[in-house]
Amino acid sequence: MLDAVATLRAALGPGSGLALVGGGVRDLLLGRPSPDWDLATALLPGAVLDRAREAGLRAIPTGLQHGTVTVMVGGRPFEITTFRGDEGYTDGRRPDAVRLGVTLEEDLARRDFTINAMALPVEALGTPGWREALVDPHGGQADLAAGLIRAVGDPLARFQEDGLRPLRACRFAAQLGFTIEAATLAAVPPRLAVAAKVSVERVLAELTKLLCGPEPGRGLAALAETGLLGLFLPECVPMIGCDQNRHHRYPVWEHTLAVVAAAPADPGLRWAALLHDVGKPSKRFVDADGAAHFHGHEAVSEAAAREILTRLRASNALLDDVAALVRHHGVHPAPAWGDAACRRFLKRLADDRLPLARWATFRWADQAGKGFDPASWLPEHRAVLDRLEALAEGQPPLAVKDLALDGRALMALAGRKGGPWLGRLQAQLMERVLEDPGLNTAAALEAEARAWLRTEAPPAP
Ligand code: ATP
Ligand code: MG
Repeated sequence: MLDAVATLRAALGPGSGLALVGGGVRDLLLGRPSPDWDLATALLPGAVLDRAREAGLRAIPTGLQHGTVTVMVGGRPFEITTFRGDEGYTDGRRPDAVRLGVTLEEDLARRDFTINAMALPVEALGTPGWREALVDPHGGQADLAAGLIRAVGDPLARFQEDGLRPLRACRFAAQLGFTIEAATLAAVPPRLAVAAKVSVERVLAELTKLLCGPEPGRGLAALAETGLLGLFLPECVPMIGCDQNRHHRYPVWEHTLAVVAAAPADPGLRWAALLHDVGKPSKRFVDADGAAHFHGHEAVSEAAAREILTRLRASNALLDDVAALVRHHGVHPAPAWGDAACRRFLKRLADDRLPLARWATFRWADQAGKGFDPASWLPEHRAVLDRLEALAEGQPPLAVKDLALDGRALMALAGRKGGPWLGRLQAQLMERVLEDPGLNTAAALEAEARAWLRTEAPPAP
């Protein structure tokens, strides 16, 4: 990395003012790997292109209107952006125009948060005294040390310019475990109308980063407190303050935050954790003894999850994964279940292409999020999983395509063309094989099929 930056610096030549800026500096100070390194320069984009190419580097004008050129070094792309000021924000999404050729200080002043508004001239990178060289006009280092996310300048004005910033503040709270500084936090509710203009793709990306951060509960709490939750995920709001029953120590929202934090930081698992109980408030029913029940909430949660993720234009892969995790989270196989019942459960997971291990990981997080001593549930969880794993290991037939007689063979046997009868027969054979996988031979299934055809099948037309 240092070599690549040295190559770039040499290529751009004297007077380029090449500096590491923004998130890269923040992550360097935190000792955290940065997903990307943004570089800034005083040179105009045309000069960056020319000088990089003269030095034999591949340079691509990826965002000339913003002053950005991508230069490849050692197979890695580096975005180099000309110092710029943003001018006029009328749509709440992006500046109307950018002004190139400004000072580094002006470039830093347009950035969102103090911790993201520092620069490090690249010649200082890798030197022992690099911290001395930091350009930090907005107190970013102090806020970094204090764990604060503070807007650069007047937060109300900054959130008026760009509605994405409040969402980024909550995302950084989750990613860094930071607190949003009071005035910055207070500026979010008055600017929700601007936040509403953010494209759904950006919303999904930010929410997913927030959920996958090490402290998602902070980010979610900030979303709830500021009204961003109601704006982007209104279905989640009724979970706040929804009390549960003796199976839980926490109300629904607190339980949800605990499950999100307990689940591995994977988009599908974290989104499922957020949404698995979203159907509970509408299904809450208090019986004569005063106990709350939530019968059927899984289906409501699944429908809401599908609607939310469709609205946010999530990929089908994410949507199906979350839907399957939510759908099956309320099933609690017991060690006392018979083999057939366990195989029927395995079939339901297989039908939804949800691997057993993934279902088990989610169940573990859901149980952990109930707030009880693991000694009270972990042994049973392990026992259930051991039992299901042992059965799955034998690779029992779980789908019609695994049956020893296929549709063609069954049609030949019956002397009939395909039709609804065939699906019913296959379902019956599947059911018999789930009860007893030993029946999955051509001979045994033939006998089963003949018996069924005699008694159940309507006469051939
Ligand atoms: P990460 O890359 O870890 O997601 P980042 O802070 O680097 O976080 P980027 O989207 O890569 O975020 O943006 C790089 C830098 O550009 C930021 O650090 C910040 O200085 C500036 N920036 C990004 N988005 C905005 C915005 N909406 N408003 C103002 N400045 C922004
Ligand atoms: Mg970045």
